[in-house]
Amino acid sequence: MSDLSAPQVLKVVDAFDLDDELRSILRPGEMVRDDQGRRHRLPRYFYEIASHEVAMQTRLSQNFSLNEFILVDLKEAPRLQQYPRYVPCAVRTLAFYLQQFRAMIGLSVHIAVNGAYRSPAHKLSQHATPHMWGTAADFYRVGNNILKTKELIEKYNDAAEDLSADVTVLPYGPVPGKNADDHVHFDLGYITVVPREISEDRMEQPQESRPRFAFEERRRKDRRSPESEEVPTK
Ligand SMILES: [Zn+2]
Repeated sequence: MSDLSAPQVLKVVDAFDLDDELRSILRPGEMVRDDQGRRHRLPRYFYEIASHEVAMQTRLSQNFSLNEFILVDLKEAPRLQQYPRYVPCAVRTLAFYLQQFRAMIGLSVHIAVNGAYRSPAHKLSQHATPHMWGTAADFYRVGNNILKTKELIEKYNDAAEDLSADVTVLPYGPVPGKNADDHVHFDLGYITVVPREISEDRMEQPQESRPRFAFEERRRKDRRSPESEEVPTK
């Protein structure tokens, strides 16, 4: 892995300052209802991902790249299949929990296509779900185990729930959205993250002359690694 080409920092944007098409897809700050009728406010602060290379090279945790959280197919809005792409800033919290889960079970966790971040415009986004916050992940395989049986799904559901009371899963069963019978739905709930580097502006209007964004400062591990002392080349 070439550290010089790896992105050093992530760019945080206020989705109110994105163009009309993106705002209409991401719907920052809007209220949406879950399948119980409870209302949740959609995230406003997103990481802007410049290219596929950046997505591949950015690690959100030791074993999870940013790219794994934005794998979508034609069910996602076409604009969100093009770079720059956007993912809510809570996604790194999900990566942290998945990393702990991976260590707990001792097996790799394969996030499915459409299995992590899904925008409100995604065809699977009928109600609010934490997938729209970047805080849920679906996986159909751990290590070499395809999760096709009740036994396997319940085994990993139990492990996920044992990890933390922050994690919920869908019980094994046949009703899509309420149950899962071919995957584990690993769910942290409706977490929104505001990175410390951005100023929370009360104005929920596009800032035409002065878009609101910030670059995350290097985190501790980056600062300690000798490679990060090198000046990135353009
Ligand atoms: Zn799910």
